[in-house]
Amino acid sequence: MPTLDFHPTGRHFLQIPGPSPVPDRILRAMSLPTIDHRGPEFGALGLKVLSGMRAIFRTKHPVVIYPSSGTGAWEAALSNALSPGDLVVMYETGHFASLWQKMAAKLGVQTEFLAYAGSDEHLPNAPSWRRGVQADMIEQRLRRDTDHRIKAVCVVHNETSTGVTSDIPAVRAAIDAAKHPALLMVDTISGLACADYRHDEWGIDVSVSGSQKGLMLPPGIGFNALSPKALAASKSAKLPRSFWGWDEMVEINKDGYFPYTPNTNLLYGLDEALAMLQAEGLDNVFARHQRWAEGVRAAVAAWALPIQCADPAVHSPVLTGVITPPGVDADAVRRLIYERFDLSLGTGLGKVKGRMFRIGHLGDSNDLTLVAAIAGCEMGLKLAGVKLADSGTQAAMTYFASHPAPALLRKVA
Ligand code: PLP
Repeated sequence: MPTLDFHPTGRHFLQIPGPSPVPDRILRAMSLPTIDHRGPEFGALGLKVLSGMRAIFRTKHPVVIYPSSGTGAWEAALSNALSPGDLVVMYETGHFASLWQKMAAKLGVQTEFLAYAGSDEHLPNAPSWRRGVQADMIEQRLRRDTDHRIKAVCVVHNETSTGVTSDIPAVRAAIDAAKHPALLMVDTISGLACADYRHDEWGIDVSVSGSQKGLMLPPGIGFNALSPKALAASKSAKLPRSFWGWDEMVEINKDGYFPYTPNTNLLYGLDEALAMLQAEGLDNVFARHQRWAEGVRAAVAAWALPIQCADPAVHSPVLTGVITPPGVDADAVRRLIYERFDLSLGTGLGKVKGRMFRIGHLGDSNDLTLVAAIAGCEMGLKLAGVKLADSGTQAAMTYFASHPAPALLRKVA
């Protein structure tokens, strides 16, 4: 009987930009028996993963772990730090930035949504969805806010709907240049453990993340990393919160425990993921994703299809958005590739639905899985009648062959 992972032979190619393919090591770790979340073994596990996550966020301050998806961690960030009617500045990089803005509005926060105002030949209805955050726009807006009504600036680090990784230190510098006290909140749900990220050094007040991307875990854990300034703001912030409250969580986390039932088996997986990332070293992890991204972009360049991110300075190491030619429904191409080659690609979300597809290059992958994924895309595009300038598969092979992975990843046994 077919099951959810029924594939006649071989493994399904999960090439969406999260949930990412989960390494077998992590799946095995998660299969251990569930333990008493108030017992001594659990306290040790809790302390270990909380400390490990501080290293991943590069912070000395508290990290909060929720049994939630990333959306819950977004709500936690807003509801702990803000009060009803507070003004926040957000920036439209894509679908996820838009969803966060809608959430803030639903929670009773007043939002101003900045966006790139230029035009775009390929995506005329979404020019802002091809570029990163323009920090100078944020600086100008903050300079005009002389009575400091703006309480927070919220941006997405790696916009998963577009494949753009914004320059977060530039946003920090903009806030500092305007001498503005607003909190800086950053969604690094798909950036963390793929692209460089430094919560303390970059002066971030609340970082928001999730388990199912660079951490290579199934969905189900949401994170907030907090600065002392964010914790201080939460003392007087008035938005209602209970489940998401930082105060009780941070207090009980000191002994490795949680105020309610944590997702124990996902935490076993997190412990294993942290061991893998620590063994590789974060800088090697970032270099690995960069190299994969360059190989995939070499393929898209050979096809002569536009990459959604129009600014090479902010190309994402996590995923690549590919714009299909006018008249070619990207979702029809995706469906064909799924049915013919057992390969899942990310769909175009919101304003870019049907205009692009996304190739994830994160999680349990390697050069050959990526070359195979590119080959699947190439066969599908051709079957859909798309004229490709050259072979992307050959371009990716040439890239990976001429740019060997670091010795650490090539070591056998
Ligand atoms: N923010 C970004 C950048 C994301 O990529 C996602 C999910 O893909 C979310 C927020 C929402 O997270 P979730 O779907 O885990 O609730």
